[in-house]
Amino acid sequence: MAVILDGKLTSAKVRERIKNEVDALPEGARRPGLAVVIVGDDPASHVYVRNKKKGCEEVGFLSREYALPESTTEEELIALVEELNRDSEIDGILVQLPLPRHLDDKKVIEHIDPSKDVDAFSYHNVGRITVGDYDFLPCTPAGVMELLHEYNIDVSGKNAVVVGRSNIVGKPQALLLLQANATVTVAHSKTKNLSEVTRGADVLVVAIGKAKFVTADMVKEGAVVIDVGMDRDENGKLCGDVDFEGVCDKASYITPVPGGVGPMTITELLKNTLTSYKRRNNI
Ligand code: NAP
Repeated sequence: MAVILDGKLTSAKVRERIKNEVDALPEGARRPGLAVVIVGDDPASHVYVRNKKKGCEEVGFLSREYALPESTTEEELIALVEELNRDSEIDGILVQLPLPRHLDDKKVIEHIDPSKDVDAFSYHNVGRITVGDYDFLPCTPAGVMELLHEYNIDVSGKNAVVVGRSNIVGKPQALLLLQANATVTVAHSKTKNLSEVTRGADVLVVAIGKAKFVTADMVKEGAVVIDVGMDRDENGKLCGDVDFEGVCDKASYITPVPGGVGPMTITELLKNTLTSYKRRNNI
């Protein structure tokens, strides 16, 4: 039976450390500030934004939410982003994605000052991550690395397989594992003999968005299995991309869904905001 990589517990520990740093700021000093911009009425996005706000409050950050109507134009959204770039109380700007169809995600993100781009989605920050010289890491892959670190799982020299190659999870995850000296393979929907590839993994990270897709026969005995997926099973219950029940007996470590990678993501966002604050204040 695998050891459960507890994202809730790890996240609480990291948040505690962030809160301690905020509590130790001199009296009267401004707090780190995060601005979250959301456009439209997507219910899932509103839940994410609420959780980000809750996270900020928990660690003592200033949190500002800008909920804009679906009808917002690109010019209006970019004008708000530029105003936040100039705002001295704001260290991090997050534009909740996906934006409504008539708005260009990439164009909007490119207007965020890279030093306040705490999601690390801008070309500038992606480039810096690629060469291993960065201030911020994208939150979900960074959360995975933090979990591995918390449980003393060293990936150096191990075969790591990342299934999924999205710009926000799979690709940056592969880069971070590579920077941690793993030998990395990236698999995707065109990969042939996927089971054979995944069975070669000492560390398997799955981020595809398909409920319980990875089954026990696709996993090597003793592998570390990280499930990034957030899916719904046939009964509408939240589950991951990995068939947890089946894989649990084979893996050495595994993340549950919920309670694994999910809680780490917002915590990494808070970490990035604190990093930005410190840089801005020469701390
Ligand atoms: P995405 O942009 O839809 O990318 C999915 C990736 O999976 C693509 O690269 C796709 O390959 C690959 N894929 C799809 N079907 C496959 C298959 N049958 N075999 C192999 N590869 C396959 O998704 P994403 O944004 O990376 O998200 C992935 C999952 O993680 C989702 O469930 C999402 O909800 C979850 N997520 C969780 C968090 C968190 O905080 N826990 C954060 C972000 C995302 P191609 O490139 O070839 O199409």
